[in-house]
Amino acid sequence: MKIATKLIHAGMEPDPSTGAIMIPIYQTSTYVQEAPGQNKGYEYARSQNPTRTALENALAIIENGKYALSFSSGVAATDAVIKLLQPGDEVIAGNDLYGGTYRLFTKIFERYGIRFHFIDMHNARDAEPYINKNTRLIWIETPTNPLLNIIDIQSVAELASRHNILTCVDNTFASPYLQNPLDLGVDLVLHSATKYLGGHSDVIQGCIMINDAELREKLYFIQKSCGAVPGPQDCFLVLRGLKTLHVRMDRHCQNGEQIADFLKSHPKVQKLYWCGLKEHPGYEIAKKQMRGFGGMMSFELKDQSVEEARRVLSATKLFSLAESLGGVESLINHPATMTHASIPKAQRIKNGLSDSLIRLSVGIEDAGDLIEDLKQAIG
Ligand SMILES: *Cc1c(COP(=O)(O)O)cnc(C)c1O
Repeated sequence: MKIATKLIHAGMEPDPSTGAIMIPIYQTSTYVQEAPGQNKGYEYARSQNPTRTALENALAIIENGKYALSFSSGVAATDAVIKLLQPGDEVIAGNDLYGGTYRLFTKIFERYGIRFHFIDMHNARDAEPYINKNTRLIWIETPTNPLLNIIDIQSVAELASRHNILTCVDNTFASPYLQNPLDLGVDLVLHSATKYLGGHSDVIQGCIMINDAELREKLYFIQKSCGAVPGPQDCFLVLRGLKTLHVRMDRHCQNGEQIADFLKSHPKVQKLYWCGLKEHPGYEIAKKQMRGFGGMMSFELKDQSVEEARRVLSATKLFSLAESLGGVESLINHPATMTHASIPKAQRIKNGLSDSLIRLSVGIEDAGDLIEDLKQAIG
């Protein structure tokens, strides 16, 4: 079955009591039992909720996984993955990560004795010197946020499995419509469902997809023990979002291409970061592991002053100045002071994320209107 069909039908069964085609929002905290321990598989809603189950079933299928678990946010899902580890364990992570992931790793988990190495993972072999007997996990994002770097998922997964290390890919930017890391050999796929999966900027949620039953049991134990579960209303919103993921992503990709064309040839634009550009260093790998290039891009103006970047950021009318991405509406963002402010400046600059970088999340409006908006803002 193709993904367009899966997105509509995965995990969906008519409600047994009424035939309702959409799963009801089971807004309940507990379930009545016939006798102690005699129940219908539902005891308490931190552990199980039918709306959440329907969503998790759908999420597993669209990422070509056996299991999925959903969490109250993307960072809660990340938190659960790191809780698979013990003090003394080490993680190798890409050096161009979502700011909140970097903050969680360095400000929370380092205090619990987990060690993180942030390295450039363009060449999987460069990770090898950091592997030792304590290494448990390799964590990558691709395309990365906000520089749209591409990492070869398959070669990272092969390196990790040779050393018996888990691999987790944060697949938020690509969405399951454009890229399926489980098919390339990784153990865990993570999404901030807040972004493309939900797609309408109206919910915060995260999820993890896996194939291994034992890993699923460990993560389920963490999910119910730590309690970062999404509410049923939020599960409903993500389920609703999923049903149009393919339609939205096609338009994000088309609009992304047109806007990239416009920015690439704009006399005031110094550099465009978009993985669909032939001259992008990750273009060939992107073509190999992704089905499209998406609507996320960043650019640098020729005038690299922060003032000029700030002027453009405040001058767009259709692109709203806001954190987040992946919704139907176009957003413009200043990573240095917004999404990536939690990364120390020296580290940020070293990774190529300058103070004047502007990031776009291209929405699904009319591409011509979006281009007009950027034209008047850049001037
Ligand atoms: C937003 C985001 C997260 C965190 O997700 P939340 O839902 O905001 O907690 C993680 N990774 C990436 C790539 C993101 O864009």
